[in-house]
Amino acid sequence: MAQVKYQEIIEEIFNELKAKPNKGKVATYIPELGIVSAEKFGVYLRTVEGESFFYGDSNVPFSIQSIAKVLSLALAYKTDGAKLWKRVGVEPSGNPFNSLIQLEYDCGKPRNALINAGAIVICDVLMSQYEDAPAVLLDFIRTASGNSSIEYDMRIAQSEKSQGFRNMALVNFIKSFGNIKNDSEKVLDFYFNLCSIKMSCKELAETFVFLANNGRNLELNRDILTSSETKRLNAIMLTCGFYDEAGDFTYKVGLPGKSGVGGGIVAVYPNNYSIAVWSPKLNKKGNSYLGMKFLERFTSETGLSIF
Ligand code: GLN
Repeated sequence: MAQVKYQEIIEEIFNELKAKPNKGKVATYIPELGIVSAEKFGVYLRTVEGESFFYGDSNVPFSIQSIAKVLSLALAYKTDGAKLWKRVGVEPSGNPFNSLIQLEYDCGKPRNALINAGAIVICDVLMSQYEDAPAVLLDFIRTASGNSSIEYDMRIAQSEKSQGFRNMALVNFIKSFGNIKNDSEKVLDFYFNLCSIKMSCKELAETFVFLANNGRNLELNRDILTSSETKRLNAIMLTCGFYDEAGDFTYKVGLPGKSGVGGGIVAVYPNNYSIAVWSPKLNKKGNSYLGMKFLERFTSETGLSIF
């Protein structure tokens, strides 16, 4: 892989995209997200050989939002194994991230763990597994990323809570079917904490590179997940990581990945690299407008996707 001109390709695509009109819109339903500078744009790529390539605002922390759902799922799956799939499915939802509609047909079992409904159930599962689930999860994320400074951001969590009516409806609706075991308000507080984590593109790429490295953290040379668990997590990201745009992302980019309403996208190419892109303006499906375009061109021009 050393001969791939990563830096040159990243800079060329970045500069071309930046010069064009951005048709996306920053998410404002979480008030704190609405105050970020809309023009930020950063990229960071980390290879499993330990090389890094970056450009733009790659060191600026932003709210990773739903990207964190991969990490809570990783911990719950590592702890519970296949039993977890009784509580949450592994099927793409084909619906927006905050949709309630399928829950009634599916008796309160969310289609997957990467939509809001599923991530809320995962928070409940973690709360039943661990006495102080938020602390255990933070510790797990810090270990996976090799970065002890990662924190929940209370301002963002509070800001989301102040407007979190849809998620309140989701947790209570799921509880009415018996698929939330703990106090729904506490589960939701944990969910808002999870979504409030801030990372830069650099930190995101460094955190997720274990999923490109068969579950092994590069720096610590320590297994975060087994290679079989990693395979399954990557499969869920590929099929469910972009809600009702998951098919489109797979078709255009061809990598397992996950987006968040903060405008971040992280993707992994198993045995090769992790890449994080951030640009806060979102397309109509709630995924970063420039992030999607960047990754489509990146995998097309390098030829490095799983297909
Ligand atoms: N915290 C956000 C919410 O629940 C996460 C959504 C997202 O990133 N797509 O609405």
